[in-house]
Amino acid sequence: MAAPVPRRSLKNLGEFRLIAALKRRFGDTRPGVICGIGDDAAEIRPSPGSHLLVSTDLLTEGIHFDPRFVVPYDIGYRAAVANLSDIAAMGGEPLYILAALAAPPTLDAEGIRRLYRGLMRPCRQANTALIGGDTSASATGLTVTVTILGRIEPHRALTRRGAQSGDVLYVSGTIGDAHAGLQLLQASLAPTFSLPISAHHARFLRARHLRPTARLALGRLLSTHRLATAAIDLSDGLAGDLRHICQESSVGAIVDSTALPLSPACRALATAWGHQPLDWALAGGEDYELLFTVPQHRRRRFERLASACGERVTAIGMICPKSNGIRLRMPDGTTRTMRAKSYEHFR
Ligand code: ADP
Ligand code: MG
Repeated sequence: MAAPVPRRSLKNLGEFRLIAALKRRFGDTRPGVICGIGDDAAEIRPSPGSHLLVSTDLLTEGIHFDPRFVVPYDIGYRAAVANLSDIAAMGGEPLYILAALAAPPTLDAEGIRRLYRGLMRPCRQANTALIGGDTSASATGLTVTVTILGRIEPHRALTRRGAQSGDVLYVSGTIGDAHAGLQLLQASLAPTFSLPISAHHARFLRARHLRPTARLALGRLLSTHRLATAAIDLSDGLAGDLRHICQESSVGAIVDSTALPLSPACRALATAWGHQPLDWALAGGEDYELLFTVPQHRRRRFERLASACGERVTAIGMICPKSNGIRLRMPDGTTRTMRAKSYEHFR
């Protein structure tokens, strides 16, 4: 005999009642949305004089998250931040998202509701409305694809292309924390696991992995005041993402290893496990901090504005001619080539 289907299972609810429920709970409208969830396409009124920014990011079970230590709320939250962060890295203002979902039958209606609660938390904070999506059953794991629309003033977008030799290289926040948090979550699955750092540091690192922050205010500061020549958000790790800026801008860079902003918690965990904190700072992905370049003559103005807005930013190096390559200055003053050890799909 087949097992009874729980009342709130997706099988019972079905696609259309699920969509209606998502619309009721999460599909709040706002000026500019002429038609949101519920028709064949959303209709929105573009803001006059703005350019549209569009990006999409996918999270899939087994590659981007492990259901043994992330709950649906976390998955939704991270899917939202990955997308908001792309708009932040362009210096834009996020407006709308669409969420497409392939859900395994094991995820019940409550699981989907929690996923959407996680998804909408950072979106609502950023005044970003859900205007559509797509829903399918999945024969394998869960996949969430979020598409985001945002706006930017013409000619103000922060691209990867504009860095110039002599510009100062900055990074926001601290780096390596999300990687450290992930290592900690993975390690804690082992039955023999014991916490090698304080509970306070562990909470901080787990939160940096599960609840990253999109640096939207900083992106807007950089674009509206024309302070940055290039920017990218750190999804693959500093070494890999700096390489993207250097390649697109046809420049080199020198990074001062002693200047890299590492949190005490990240240092503590790396050290406890016999790793180099520097390696985590360079290769750790998914911090969603911004890496950007500021011309020397705008440096003082930028630092004044950033500190007035409460944004933590650190100068970590300089852009140089392409022929210098991408180098790392070590504590003893010697320099060496910085290798990109970031994650690359299919490799
Ligand atoms: P279609 O058959 O035209 O693709 P759907 O039945 O898939 O239409 O979708 C109906 C409406 O519900 C559309 O507005 C769509 O954007 C929205 N929608 C579908 N799935 C989701 C979802 N997972 N999250 C948010 N909106 C959704
Ligand atoms: Mg559809």
